[in-house]
Amino acid sequence: MYDSRCLNCGETFTTYRRMADCDDLPECCGVTTARVYSVPMVSADIAPYQAVGYDKKTGGMPFITSRREHKEYLRRNGYHEVETSFRSRNEVKGDFDMKRDLINAVKKVTGH
Ligand SMILES: [Zn+2]
Repeated sequence: MYDSRCLNCGETFTTYRRMADCDDLPECCGVTTARVYSVPMVSADIAPYQAVGYDKKTGGMPFITSRREHKEYLRRNGYHEVETSFRSRNEVKGDFDMKRDLINAVKKVTGH
């Protein structure tokens, strides 16, 4: 999650990007907005899972590896998320290292 501000009109924006795309900021007044630095907010992606419903697109049950895939899969098949499929914030599991990501995000923002 990255905040930016238009240096021309002062409008502020919050954008959601992968860390690699953090410089891909919105435009306002015809120019790219400037990053506003704040405490990094890193949201873990969902843990990969094997879908248990058929996908119209492939006819099979896809292996879902990201929140985006999860949402697109639900949307195109008319499926609805039920509350039990959410993980609580303290119960995040998966093949990622949030501490490392936070350290890298802080390094990127502060330059050291
Ligand atoms: Zn503007």
